[in-house]
Amino acid sequence: MKIPVDVSVVHEGERIRKEDMYVELGGPKVSSKGELVRVRKPGEIRDGNVEVEGPDFDKLKEGGRYPFAIFVEVAGKNVEEDLEAVIERRIHDYCNYVEGFMHLNQRYDIWCRLSKKSYERGFNTLKYLGQALITLFKAELPIIEKIQVTFITDEKKVEAFVNDARKIYEARDARARALSEEEVDTFYGCVLCQSFAPTHFCVITPDRISLCGSINWFDGRAAARVDPKGPNFAIPKGELIDEVNGEYSGVNKVVKERSQGETERFYLHSIFNFPHTSCGCFESIAFYIPEVDGVGVVHRDYIGETVLGVPFSTLATQTGGGKQVEGFLGMAIEYMRSPKFLQADGGWNRMVWLPKSVKERVIDDIPAELRDKIATEEDATDIAALKGFLKERGHPVVERWREVEAVEVPELEVMPVGAPGGIKIILQNAKIHAEKVIIKKIK
Ligand code: SF4
Ligand code: ZN
Repeated sequence: MKIPVDVSVVHEGERIRKEDMYVELGGPKVSSKGELVRVRKPGEIRDGNVEVEGPDFDKLKEGGRYPFAIFVEVAGKNVEEDLEAVIERRIHDYCNYVEGFMHLNQRYDIWCRLSKKSYERGFNTLKYLGQALITLFKAELPIIEKIQVTFITDEKKVEAFVNDARKIYEARDARARALSEEEVDTFYGCVLCQSFAPTHFCVITPDRISLCGSINWFDGRAAARVDPKGPNFAIPKGELIDEVNGEYSGVNKVVKERSQGETERFYLHSIFNFPHTSCGCFESIAFYIPEVDGVGVVHRDYIGETVLGVPFSTLATQTGGGKQVEGFLGMAIEYMRSPKFLQADGGWNRMVWLPKSVKERVIDDIPAELRDKIATEEDATDIAALKGFLKERGHPVVERWREVEAVEVPELEVMPVGAPGGIKIILQNAKIHAEKVIIKKIK
């Protein structure tokens, strides 16, 4: 079966715009979608087989959006269940090697498109995609000896598949939740996303799952063991420099090496000063809201504007790309369940706004006394309403406003420093409430 389009790493960064797409599979407008890898016994796999359950490309209507699941089953002497998540994450890369096929995100959130051009060139069945995946998996991960792929487009079947898959994702995450940074001496790194964001890499600890939400500490360890020179590698954690911010000498060393010198240090549990960088596949964004001195969160599937008056996509442009951007952090929703969740910034005590669907997902991890003090889109859609809500509910950040307002600076004059021709104003860790700022030329 000869694939009618090119399959190579050069197509990886390719995006398919709405006007150019033949069909969309999964994505924000479709409720059921997902991908999963499972390890099987060799006898349970028909090696090289591709199945399509539901209508194939040639039966789907041009311009339509459809439910979609990708199910990959693998076997091999050295393929253990521990590797499932890591193999699963590669689905993203390998799908993107296929000319005219785009794959975004992971787990229950995948978003794929086939281009008109590739369809016209004869890419009229998912079997070609399955073929490409099988070839790439075997070539890049030789431990995989047998592999079969099933695509599902039948709505009911996708729904059932995703329901089961969610239980498996949850079991993986629960396992990592039981462990903490203090109990291990090695963290793990991932550089898979450097093809999109060359200065970004993820640091994965037991208290901090990767920002895409698909690789936890156990997954990182399993991957680094089978392929230590691959995209997942061990990071000896070194000395604990700052317990609250989560700063480790071993992490900083690797940050310098792996960020092409762009970044010097990471605070693993803060969005201020030296936050972890973000590529583009974060499940959610934590963002600072200066007007209330609090932190908000928005996830990828949130439709509409956040309390800042801009949608997820605008914040994503600000956050992603591998730069350290103070006040913005790409993160997995699972990280909100970590006992170290933004602990340096006050953790849940600083959280003021998040979409209702995220709040419902993590409700058990929000301290009971804060649950009704954190606003959702139903309580506030702009800053004024948010302020009113936080005040009325007695949110802990309101105490911070009082502290700030209590500082009175009648007038602050900044003298020119150094050579004539300019001034440099550095306000570090300052919170100043000023009625008016007047800049005058000094004669
Ligand atoms: Fe790896 Fe991080 Fe990219 Fe996930 S987001 S694939 S952990 S680099
Ligand atoms: Zn990424």
